[in-house]
Amino acid sequence: MRLATNPGNIGHSWHMKVFIGDECPHCKPNSERIKKPFTIYDDAVFGDGTRVNHSAEFIPGRVTDHTLFADPENLAAGNAPYIRKLELQKPALAKALKEGCWAQFQGQYFTCWDEARDQDLPNDYRGPDLRMVIPFAEAPVEWWYPHFTGTDWGVGSSQAASYLCVRTPADGWFPNGRVYVLKEFCRPDSYIDEYPAEFLRRFVIPELD
Ligand SMILES: [Zn+2]
Repeated sequence: MRLATNPGNIGHSWHMKVFIGDECPHCKPNSERIKKPFTIYDDAVFGDGTRVNHSAEFIPGRVTDHTLFADPENLAAGNAPYIRKLELQKPALAKALKEGCWAQFQGQYFTCWDEARDQDLPNDYRGPDLRMVIPFAEAPVEWWYPHFTGTDWGVGSSQAASYLCVRTPADGWFPNGRVYVLKEFCRPDSYIDEYPAEFLRRFVIPELD
């Protein structure tokens, strides 16, 4: 069985788990936590720990390795026109695609999450608010809409939590309504015993001011 894919989007984490390892071989070629490229492994497992029961090998390839995407009308240019199209993607994704880098989305469940999503918008942009986190005062939500939190207490080493509002009435941009992230709280290397109080202070105790 052969699979070919790019970093990012649906399937990123699955391919990392089965073929690539916990870190990006392009960024960290000497890491113990990668599966070495061009090496056959017999112990691959899926995300839930089930054995793959087939050998697995990661064969990295870059768009500069070949000219398979050359325009038949302009073979001399090789893949250059295709690479220019890649560069139309968001800068971070374009870089990941060009370099074959798997780090950008590492450990990320929602690979569509993009902190820079509201940046570089044209001045005449008239679409919805694209920020990933929109404060309550600026989001088109009401206090009586259902709110919820999600948290990962991080096995004592770091914590992350989101405070969300679900879900706004349908509109032209979001025919199923939209879930807004109103607050985010991330702390690296923090002390777990202090976390519940900090979580309550930020998310649950009403803001009085
Ligand atoms: Zn990388």
